[in-house]
Amino acid sequence: MRKPCIAANWKMYKTMGETEAFLKAFIPAVSSVGDVDIVVAPPFTSLYTASQLLKGTNIKLSAQNVYYEAEGAYTGEVSTKMILDIGCTHVIIGHSERRQYFGETDEILNKKAKAAKAAGLSVIFCIGESLEERNTGKTFDIIKREIEGGLKDIDSDNLVIAYEPIWAIGTGITATPEQAQEAHAYVRDMLRNLYANKADEIRILYGGSIKPENIKEIMSKPDVDGGLVGGASLKADSFEKIVKFNK
Ligand code: PEP
Repeated sequence: MRKPCIAANWKMYKTMGETEAFLKAFIPAVSSVGDVDIVVAPPFTSLYTASQLLKGTNIKLSAQNVYYEAEGAYTGEVSTKMILDIGCTHVIIGHSERRQYFGETDEILNKKAKAAKAAGLSVIFCIGESLEERNTGKTFDIIKREIEGGLKDIDSDNLVIAYEPIWAIGTGITATPEQAQEAHAYVRDMLRNLYANKADEIRILYGGSIKPENIKEIMSKPDVDGGLVGGASLKADSFEKIVKFNK
């Protein structure tokens, strides 16, 4: 049985004060949740604030990005050691916004995932097709390319996959549960090729306009093991409802 995982991706939202206000409301609201792994990914500048507040709670801390070199003259970058030091257990790698706006290729993402895993971080590795790719029948080709390229020579320990169709991210258009299941089943098959039986232990999260109103239906599908949530994770009461989807 895979334990569901629900992760908040705050993107470039929330100052330290806003992070504190969110967590002071959210931590007590979900303290009794034991059947779901809860992860929060604030921007770098709020990680320290969050890490202090999350000590001793049931909520894990994630970075939204990391660089693959250990240290050096890489202005503006942050290493695995730094995010571990600040209290992160997870890192999101390969979000479509990183691919689209910051030119991150499968090769770069593979290096990042390797560095993160070697440092002992859990990797939430994102994949997903654009609307044009879906409409021209390329969904599975894209998923295949992103998995084969991004996960090359990477073992399955502490690996989480997030299937996020780009056309559903921040658009209010959610994939239907059937579309999500179809893609997740394909991802699971690919993971079986790479990891044999261990593929059944890997959580595959769905991401794309998850809301309190649609999470339960999406989570009812057999290969959907959780969610990566953007917009609806920014308000504590909304994210609480998502985390408590099975209550
Ligand atoms: C995301 O950024 O990973 C995401 C899924 O965003 P949203 O929930 O806002 O679509």
